Amino acid sequence: MNIILLGAPGSGKGTQSQNLSTLYNLNHLSTGDLLRAEITANTPLGQQAKTIMDSGNLVSDDIVIAMIANHLNQQGTLFDGFPRTLNQAQALDTLLATHNNSQIDYVIELDVDQEEIIQRMLARGRADDNEHTIRNRLNVYNQQTKPLIDYYQQQNKHHKIDGSGAIEDITARIQTIIEPTS
Ligand code: AMP
Repeated sequence: MNIILLGAPGSGKGTQSQNLSTLYNLNHLSTGDLLRAEITANTPLGQQAKTIMDSGNLVSDDIVIAMIANHLNQQGTLFDGFPRTLNQAQALDTLLATHNNSQIDYVIELDVDQEEIIQRMLARGRADDNEHTIRNRLNVYNQQTKPLIDYYQQQNKHHKIDGSGAIEDITARIQTIIEPTS
């Protein structure tokens, strides 16, 4: 089983990914986490990505697609923060078909009010979370990532859930999509 968690930055994808990857024994792949690990290790890739990430813009498709290709295994995967562009979504379909003979099963969009997101992100205080960057990241999401909703709707894979409220309640809402009969 392969799942994509879709949602604006600060919508809670990371937190829900941890719960879901444990519940369903999935390989949790976060391109944001992988990029931050490159920055911490001070690799050339990390140095290149840092400036882009600090501005709130997207790292190039080629870089993140290669990272995902390197981390796919035979386990089902929970994709967190990837894909973020149509190009990435199409590349992911091809990668899953060729590497794993599999496909995306569920795309779960966490719907959270933008003002609530800005407050959440300011509260978590990460280095790339100042208000100017946050607003840019939301614009980038609206322009480059939102078209993915249409892409997955056309494949009947898109499910939107209310991403506000208690963490466990949000996880339960996602479970009703993945296990509709339980
Ligand atoms: P995140 O932790 O998912 O919010 O990602 C933090 C930053 O890493 C983003 O603002 C982007 O600059 C970069 N990033 C993470 N995932 C991707 C992706 N799939 N495509 C392009 N850039 C990404």
